[in-house]
Amino acid sequence: MTVTFPFDNSYARLPERFYIRQGPVPVRAPELLLLNLTLAEELGLDADALRSPEGTAILAGNALPEGAEPLAQAYAGHQFGGFSPVLGDGRALLLGEVIDRSGRRRDIQLKGSGLTGFSRPGSDGRAPLGAVIREFIVSEAMHALAIPTTRSLAAVATGEHVRREALLPGGVLTRVAASHIRVGTFQFFAARGDVAALEALRDHVIARHFPEADGAIGLLEAVIASQARLVAAWMGVGFIHGVMNTDNTAISGETIDFGPCAFMDAFHPGTVYSSIDHGGRYAYMRQPEILAWNLAQLATALLPLVAETEEEALETAQAAMQRYPDLVRAAWADVFTRKIGLTTREDDDVALVADLLERMAAQEADFTNSFRALKDGASRDQFLEPEAFDQWEARWRARLAREPGLEALPERLASANPAVIPRNHRVEQAIEAAIEGDLAPASRLITALARPFDDLAPDMANLARPPRTEERVLQTFCGT
Ligand code: AMP
Ligand code: MG
Repeated sequence: MTVTFPFDNSYARLPERFYIRQGPVPVRAPELLLLNLTLAEELGLDADALRSPEGTAILAGNALPEGAEPLAQAYAGHQFGGFSPVLGDGRALLLGEVIDRSGRRRDIQLKGSGLTGFSRPGSDGRAPLGAVIREFIVSEAMHALAIPTTRSLAAVATGEHVRREALLPGGVLTRVAASHIRVGTFQFFAARGDVAALEALRDHVIARHFPEADGAIGLLEAVIASQARLVAAWMGVGFIHGVMNTDNTAISGETIDFGPCAFMDAFHPGTVYSSIDHGGRYAYMRQPEILAWNLAQLATALLPLVAETEEEALETAQAAMQRYPDLVRAAWADVFTRKIGLTTREDDDVALVADLLERMAAQEADFTNSFRALKDGASRDQFLEPEAFDQWEARWRARLAREPGLEALPERLASANPAVIPRNHRVEQAIEAAIEGDLAPASRLITALARPFDDLAPDMANLARPPRTEERVLQTFCGT
């Protein structure tokens, strides 16, 4: 069966130095493991055709759909603070862009599709299947949590092995994004002093993501605002991205590159999972601060476009950056006051939230379950010493007494506090089973995570349970 992708490839119309045109490297024995039917429908793709051998061949990089113009995108980036002038897609290819059923332009990208002109020596251009399944599960969970994110259309096993710490089965992910343009894309051209390319990129990004934005400064302000909202939303679900390098910060404001990311179980502000984040650079509570650093790199890259003189450009960009702390504080306050059921705002509300978080940290309370249980008055059970919660609850009830519309409080709390998140140990269990050929745990998890604000069905209830000591996953890996 032929699969028709309604391609309209605008990135491929940008100057040649934006990418390297090349095809994917075929794999031995592709097998379609996961297909996202709702997303396929949204994109106007025929699910049956995607499931056919011809469709699977496309999702594995063994065949190209009509109209694809595969290319590896150029970008640079600061990784853990150090600048690499050339990173680029070393194991991914943009097949093209489709206009989806609601008229939105979406990138279709294969990740794990083989070596490219940007691959570093000694790398293989491939992805371990475990990392592919992980990104599929977690990115779709993010979407269901109403947090902007790249999506996952399909996960394919390649029938080949990749060499990492051991020989691991390989996989290819089909990733869907508003675009794959990163802070590092601007840095790539800025580092070369290529002002013409910066201008072309600016125009492309404004037309594509921020049509209201006025020039480079308008663009910078729009990215700052959308990233501030994004990081606040992450904090609200206990998400730790794990590798907030500037090449992993998307201009669209979507969450991108689910490597060593994880959702916290017990709340602690300093939580780090990534095996390579030794200094805790990307710890939970540091995310807003590290984002400011990344946005400052974007501002720096845009300077040549901001004003005639360097001094004036610097002043204008700094003024835009100075608004970030207020924006992120306001976004954080919106997210967390909503989590405790407030719709109006008083001066002490943020302190009320902070008090709860402090108590949760001291009491090793489960982040997700403590907030979720507010609606049933059962949060105290999540605390080592329930009285620590009771004291806070008295303050909270006094504050709630001044809220309108309290009859809707349980629904309000339910819609702000998910019952289920992709807990690390569940994700790992699902991956292990999938690699052994049993997709049932992954499917079950994906089904529950698709409706995270509903109460879990009794047979799914164990997905909300925090890990037992022996189930705890303390470290996550990049999967590169
Ligand atoms: P990531 O850690 O996935 O954000 O990737 C950082 C950079 O390393 C990007 O340029 C990737 O394309 C590249 N990279 C990661 N894994 C591989 C791989 N297995 N083969 C080639 N390049 C890779
Ligand atoms: Mg990356």
